[in-house]
Amino acid sequence: MGARAWAVTFDLQHTDRATQARAGLLRTPHGNAPTPLFCPVGTQATVKAISPRELHELQTGMILGNTYHLYLRPGAELIAEMGGLHRFMGWDGPILTDSGGFQVFSLEGLRRIGDDGVVFRSHIDGSAHTFTPELVVDIQEKLGSDIAMVLDECAEPHDYAYAVAAMERTHRWAERCLAAHRREDQALFGIVQGGIHDDLRRASAAAISAMGFAGHAIGGLSVGESKDDMLRVLDGLMPLLPPERPRYLMGVGSPEDLVECVARGVDMFDCVLPTRLARNGAVFTPEGRLNLRNAAHKNDPRPIQEGCTCYTCQHFTRAYLRHLMLAREMLGSRLNTLHNLHYLLELMRNMREAILGGSFEAFREAFWARYQVADAAARDWNRARWNSRARRGEGESGP
Ligand SMILES: [Zn+2]
Repeated sequence: MGARAWAVTFDLQHTDRATQARAGLLRTPHGNAPTPLFCPVGTQATVKAISPRELHELQTGMILGNTYHLYLRPGAELIAEMGGLHRFMGWDGPILTDSGGFQVFSLEGLRRIGDDGVVFRSHIDGSAHTFTPELVVDIQEKLGSDIAMVLDECAEPHDYAYAVAAMERTHRWAERCLAAHRREDQALFGIVQGGIHDDLRRASAAAISAMGFAGHAIGGLSVGESKDDMLRVLDGLMPLLPPERPRYLMGVGSPEDLVECVARGVDMFDCVLPTRLARNGAVFTPEGRLNLRNAAHKNDPRPIQEGCTCYTCQHFTRAYLRHLMLAREMLGSRLNTLHNLHYLLELMRNMREAILGGSFEAFREAFWARYQVADAAARDWNRARWNSRARRGEGESGP
C-alpha cells in the first residue's frame, strides 16, 4: 500500500536543531499551506461569525469542516450537487474534513459501537444512523475536501483494556477506509490512537505508518487527560512517525499548547478554542487570555493588544468591545473572532519564521516569559461548557 501517490504532498523544509520543531509546505489541489499550520474550524460549512473573504485577509492556510454536522445537515448529496464543499461555502482554499468519529463518540448515551461501525442518534431529530469506515470515506469524497480522515475510535484515555480494543478497531477501520478511498484529488490521513499508554502509541504508530497514508493524525489527545500526559505521549510518539509525512494533532489548541506541540514536531492543528472563546468575550494577548466582559475594561481606551495589526485592534477599544458583548451585539463576536484568529495565525507564522531562522528555542523562551496560562478556574469553566455542548451534539471538534 505504501506506494500510493497522494493529491496532497508535504515538503519538509527545516527541522530545528535544539527541538523537534519543523517547518514545511503542504501542497494541495486548492493551494499551498505553510506549516506549522493552524486550521480554524468551520463546523457547519462556515467559520462562525466571519466570511471566507475575511479568512483570506487573515491569511488562513486551511480550514476544517465537520463531517458529522454536514452529513446530518444539509447532507453530503446536496453539497455534492452544489459543486462540493469549497463552492458551497465560497472558500477556494484548502479544506480538511474530520471523519465525524469524534462527534459521534462525544454523543454520550447515543451510540453503539461494533466492528462494522458506530450507530448513533442525530442530535437534531433523534433519527438513527450508522457510520461505517466506508460511509465516512464516501461522505468526505462527496464533500470534496483536500484532506479526508479515516474513521477512528476515540477511547477514554486512561482505561487500558478499552484503549487496546479501540486501537485495534481503529487499525482495522483504517485498512477499510484505505481500501474504500477512490477520489484522486483528495488525500487520506490515518489516525494513531492508544490513549495515554506509551506501548499502545508505539504499536499504533507502527501499524498506521505502515499503511501508506498521506499524513498521520494523532487522535485521543486533548480529550481530558492531563497536560503532562499529553506532552509525554507526544515526546514518545513523534520520533516514531515518518518524518516525510505531515503530522496533525486534532483538537489543539491554546497558544501555549501550540508552542509546546510544535516544539515536539507537530505540523498541523485545529481547534474551536479561538472562535468559541471569542463569542464568549475572551481574547488572546501575548500576556495571556483577557475577558472583555470584566468591569476593568468598562472605560479602557486601549485595543485588545497594543501593536496588533488586525482590523479589530486597529479600530476599536476594549470599552467598545465590552459594550458589544454586554449588549449582545453580533459585531462583538465578529470582531473578537477576527482578533483571536489573527493572533493564532500570526503565532504560527512567527513560529515558522523562527524555525526557518534557527531561533525557535529563543522564540519559545520569549513566549513563556510573557504568556500567563489561563487560571485553572477559567479553564475548568470553559471545559465544562464545551463538554456539555458536545453532549448536546453542538461540539465543533475536540476540546
Ligand atoms: Zn488584534
